[in-house]
Formats: sequence, structure tokens, C-alpha cells
Amino acid sequence: MRRLIRFAFDDVRPADEEVLTRMGMPGDAPVAPAVRTLLDDALEKIAALAEPRGVFQSISKADYEMVYRGEGRNAAESPLELIAPRAEALALFVGTIGENTGKEIRTLFRKDDPALAMMLDAFASETTNRVAEALSRTFLHELHGQISAAARVLPYSPGYCGWHVTGQRALFAAIHPHDIGVTLQPSCLMTPLKSVSGVLVAGDAAVHRFRPQWAFCDECRERDCGPRMASVRS
Ligand code: SF4
Repeated sequence: MRRLIRFAFDDVRPADEEVLTRMGMPGDAPVAPAVRTLLDDALEKIAALAEPRGVFQSISKADYEMVYRGEGRNAAESPLELIAPRAEALALFVGTIGENTGKEIRTLFRKDDPALAMMLDAFASETTNRVAEALSRTFLHELHGQISAAARVLPYSPGYCGWHVTGQRALFAAIHPHDIGVTLQPSCLMTPLKSVSGVLVAGDAAVHRFRPQWAFCDECRERDCGPRMASVRS
């Protein structure tokens, strides 16, 4: 199964609180009028500029293991080594919001408007994350009737949780996301920059559960594995 999907911006629009949290503001703090204006201006820009789209492609566990191994630079142990073998289905994915928003961010910095540039950058990053979630929902929908009713799909990406960022080379070689306009630079940065890649894992709460107790967790600032596992329970 391979699916290429173009999303409407409203399908992947992040909540204001998520954007403000990415900017470093407490989610429950009152929003100052100047910040509200920046948020509204950034929303107007990204709604006009974003071209959210993505592709996913089913993969067998044996083929996934080859992709995950990549160039042999992953952590000795990682969440995906526990999760993937328990999965009910797997798919590689790449998603993006396109080039235009990134160009506008650079233009705003050049025009000496860093506040709006940073707000738009935060909006763009959160919207890119929502593309991965929208692809997860679509994969789950496509699997309806083939997996357990309790199963949910979560995205896992190279560069996080022990999966080395160089793993993107094997991933891109397997999925070839040229049809959504995403390429991989020698540094393993994606172009457009506001893109996301990884594996979609389908399974119930037990499949996605693990204890974050690896050495690399000590340096993790996001620590978003807890809320992600909780989202599968609810
Ligand atoms: S603590 Fe951070 S690095 Fe460790 S599993 Fe959770 S999200 Fe990944």
C-alpha cells in the first residue's frame, strides 16, 4: 500500500497553545496583546503559504529492520527495537508543508522582523508535526478491519530516541518521496526544511508502551514519549 495525500491547512493546523509552548511560553499563561497579534499574523501567513502533503508506504517487518539498521549508527538499545516487532502493521512515511513558509521565514529575518519570523517558524514546525499525525490517522483508516479495534498509529522519526539521523538515507532509498517534492541533503537535513520522516507503527497501547530509561534519555529535553503513550490509552 502506497498513498500520497494532500491535506487542507485546517486538517493540520496546530492549536495556538502548541505554537506558544514551542515558543517557550507556558501553555496556561495569559497571551499579551502583542503576542496575540504575532500569532494571528503568523496564522494568516501559514494558512496562505503551507502546502501540507505526505506519502506513506507499507513495509514488512523484515524490510523495516533493514531500513532501521541504516548505517549501523543507532543506539545499542532503543524504543523502536521493542515496539516495531510487536506492531500489527508498519509503514514508512515522509511529510512536508512545502518550501513557501520557509522562504517567508527567511524573508522576515532579512526584513528585520525576527519576532514574526520566529512565531511563523514555531507555527511551521508544529504544523509539520501535525502532518505526521494526519498521515498516522490516514494509515489507521486504511487498515480498518485488518488490525485490532484498539490499535492506534504513532509516528517515530530518525534523529530521535536512539534512531540515528543517518537512518534517513535508507528510509529515503526505500520510499522515494520525490513525488511530494522532498529530498535528502548529504547532511541528512531534508529539503524543504519543514519536513518529517519516519515509520508509522500500528498497535494497541501495549505495543507502544516502554520505559524511557536509556542513556540518551538523560539528554532529552522534549520527553514527549509519555504524552504520546498516554494518547494511545485514551
Ligand atoms: S525520554 Fe526522550 S529520548 Fe527517551 S524515549 Fe522519551 S522522548 Fe525518547
